[in-house]
Amino acid sequence: MGIATVNPATGETVKIFEPITVDEIEVKLALAETTFRQYRKISLEQRSQWLKAAADILERDQQKLGEIMTLEMGKPIKGAIAEAKKCALVCRYYADNAAEFLKDVEAQTDASRSFIRYQPLGVILAVMPWNFPLWQVFRFAAPALMAGNVGILKHASNVPQCALAVEAILAEAGFPAGCFQTFLIGASEVESIINDPRVKAATLTGSEPAGASLASAAGKQIKKTVLELGGSDPFIVLESADIEAAATTAVTARMLNNGQSCIAAKRFILAESIADEFQALLLEKFKALKVGDPMEEDTDIGPLANASMLLELNQQVQETVTKGGTILLGGHIISDRPGYFYPPTILTDIPVDSPGYYDEFFGPVALLFRVKDIDQAIELANDTIFGLGASAWTNDSAEQDRLIEDIEAGCVFINGMVKSDPRLPFGGIKRSGYGRELSIEGMQEFLNVKTVWIK
Ligand code: NAP
Repeated sequence: MGIATVNPATGETVKIFEPITVDEIEVKLALAETTFRQYRKISLEQRSQWLKAAADILERDQQKLGEIMTLEMGKPIKGAIAEAKKCALVCRYYADNAAEFLKDVEAQTDASRSFIRYQPLGVILAVMPWNFPLWQVFRFAAPALMAGNVGILKHASNVPQCALAVEAILAEAGFPAGCFQTFLIGASEVESIINDPRVKAATLTGSEPAGASLASAAGKQIKKTVLELGGSDPFIVLESADIEAAATTAVTARMLNNGQSCIAAKRFILAESIADEFQALLLEKFKALKVGDPMEEDTDIGPLANASMLLELNQQVQETVTKGGTILLGGHIISDRPGYFYPPTILTDIPVDSPGYYDEFFGPVALLFRVKDIDQAIELANDTIFGLGASAWTNDSAEQDRLIEDIEAGCVFINGMVKSDPRLPFGGIKRSGYGRELSIEGMQEFLNVKTVWIK
């Protein structure tokens, strides 16, 4: 399937989109380039007004935007509406804070005056995934536009209506044509765009292979990239934790977005002494989740985004079981209805040589591990190629310090679930990627940090 809306709750192809032609790509790149030259001179105050107008539109249209997201990738409608509202939040955050973030910074040197000036780079390419189809784009677009950059978006091929909606929101908000353009293109077109001298840098959120491919193409052109890739985040529960609170949060941390979040808690690492209690609570709470039509308000778990995600997840589960893992709940494709549904699933006794140990599971599957103490918990948490986030539960302050210090990840949340927040940097280490989004750090990724020295 090329670029199309396919309803994952039914498998029905709703609408097919023609990719834009090479000539259309050329026209759009030329527009981006000429727009940048003028847009970088537009005042911060004006940019901020436009971004706040975008926030108003996101809030005004939250229901409609939520329905488009749910139709195209299957997230429960409640979460989709919340996503539209969170996009408004990130727009307002950068609209309010960009002037401070972009201020000249004075430095004392041998010059009569020396300082740092932050300037935009130009046209930035964003390659984005389908799982948070509005949020991922706005968390790139808001700081980029406030900084004076212009954006071009290559969105995932299964969310074309979301991609077009973002472009329409920013245009309606007042941004000049060319500040933000959606390119309906396949992944194979990305390399020629990154090779184009008018494109100055790129960001990609998605899988490791896609990230590696974009980064190598950009590397050949000496162009900066930011990569937000996969994760297999640990959720560590130690003896002194509030087990009920941890289990309640664990459900959201694993199941948000039908389990398809890079920062979902995927590996539950439990101290032996509380493991039975936590496991029983998790089982009870998973059983209570409602799987069904994502357009219905009370649905907790909708379908996975497409057929291949469903088959891949099931394959990972079956292989883990073949290698010796145990299914405590779920563990099979739901076959008595159309669409790409997988039930809440819990796996235990996961062998080291199985996918449950080393793969990212992108769906509603919790992987349970038992450890004897904090040393083993940290060792297991770090025994992965990924390093995105980590959630750790303990009320012992010495243990909290150890976890903060020794967990290899881009963020550690103590007694809470990993989540993104415009006020805090977001990103990973190891094969989860590099660079940061959100906060001042996110804005600085695509700036020229210009040193100015005056005799
Ligand atoms: P994906 O297949 O890598 O797709 C992501 C984007 O990259 C899509 O726009 C895709 O286009 C494009 N793409 C794919 N192959 C490419 C290539 N060789 N060169 C250039 N672009 C390419 O990922 P996904 O399956 O949609 O998303 C799931 C993955 O994203 C998971 O691993 C998840 O953990 C990760 N993720 C990470 C974050 C984060 O912030 N760290 C957030 C969300 C998701 P097409 O759709 O046209 O193939």
